[in-house]
Amino acid sequence: MFKKSLRVVVIGAGVLGTAIAYTIKKSFKNSVEVILIEKHTAPGQETSKFNSGVLHSGIHSKPDTLKAKFARSGNLMAKDYCQRNGVPIYECGMLIVAAYRDLIYLTKKIRNFWNIYNHGREQNIEMKILMPWEIPRIEPEVRGAGAIFIPDVAVIDQEKFVQSLFKSGKDLGVQMFLDTQVIGFRNMAGKYYVETNKSTIETDVVINAAGLYADEIAKMAGFDQYKIYPYRGEYYEVLGPEAKLVNRLVYPVPIEGDPGKGIHFLKTTDGRLLLGPNARLVPNKEYYTQDKTPAEVFKKAAVRFCPALKNAELKWAYSGIRPKLTLKDDIHHESDFIFSLDHQNPFFLNIIGYESPGLSGALAAAEYVKNILNKI
Ligand SMILES: Cc1cc2nc3c(=O)[nH]c(=O)nc-3n(C[C@H](O)[C@H](O)[C@H](O)COP(=O)(O)OP(=O)(O)OC[C@H]3O[C@@H](n4cnc5c(N)ncnc54)[C@H](O)[C@@H]3O)c2cc1C
Repeated sequence: MFKKSLRVVVIGAGVLGTAIAYTIKKSFKNSVEVILIEKHTAPGQETSKFNSGVLHSGIHSKPDTLKAKFARSGNLMAKDYCQRNGVPIYECGMLIVAAYRDLIYLTKKIRNFWNIYNHGREQNIEMKILMPWEIPRIEPEVRGAGAIFIPDVAVIDQEKFVQSLFKSGKDLGVQMFLDTQVIGFRNMAGKYYVETNKSTIETDVVINAAGLYADEIAKMAGFDQYKIYPYRGEYYEVLGPEAKLVNRLVYPVPIEGDPGKGIHFLKTTDGRLLLGPNARLVPNKEYYTQDKTPAEVFKKAAVRFCPALKNAELKWAYSGIRPKLTLKDDIHHESDFIFSLDHQNPFFLNIIGYESPGLSGALAAAEYVKNILNKI
């Protein structure tokens, strides 16, 4: 525990910033003053709102990464939090299915199937291999040459989760500065001065949780080693009676080097069936609705697993943008989350490339930040 009372400024009220502000205020109580700054008039208006809402198991990430560790423990913490705070949650489990076509045409996919299964085994994730005839017992309209079923995966209402974390933090005494944009920093006499469009705030610690803009915030403070690439993922909603054909999460076998997890079926907590997201590098960080990907791309991906969807009507739903990090020129390189204390006393913690499974991992990531602060 730090020796004197500290002021901590957290930048960004997405799921990460709200989870951090809530966790550190709850743990350190009156020995910290926590200020959360958000440029929008409400929390969670960017990537934390436009995602799949899945509490992942960690199986999609290499076992020794922060991504895997945070997903694993964050999943349990988020479930517990949602249950205690009335955030809608649908505990449906996830099927990762090898489509027949994949196995016939792409031997690489078989390797990927066993790779992901081994990630699960190394992390002791509860899962079951399903033979082709066992898949319809879980999802009657889904077909495949084999599948992994992970019962612990759930879907939450991601927007309500962030709103609830924000409220929990506020109730504990976190000071919320909404509609306030960080525009620069000064570092003088052992303090940071955070300049916003409204005022200047003196602080001992800055935590940069600005999502897509975390590289720009870091650069404003003199840390120019990060570059975030915006990778958009779009979703289509299945309309009409076909929306009842699939009732849980059905994912394809991921392809190594793919910037996403592959177009999947997503049943939301309010009962809608969505298809998505794809993964496309887009020209800027606000490229949400321009140049939409045609519905046929999503239907083709879905019919591989669920032939009964071939005549379904699809409607474009929304898109979210992944804050993909790279420290190299290779944009397909899969980076882990970066939590880097880039300046000591005053302290500046940059959190960069906090992409999927960032929703799942938020409460575990917040504990990790709490432990960093504890050592100050
Ligand atoms: C298509 C898609 C699907 C995904 N699916 C899942 C999933 O199913 N499960 C999962 O675990 N993860 C998923 N993710 C990842 C997850 O959504 C993110 O990891 C998470 O939302 C990131 O939260 P964040 O708080 O870091 O960022 P954000 O939600 O982007 O929050 C950052 C905040 O900082 C604010 N900000 C930025 N600049 C400034 C500034 N200058 N001044 C003040 N405020 C500022 C922004 O307004 C924003 O509110 C998905 C992501 C995408 C894009």
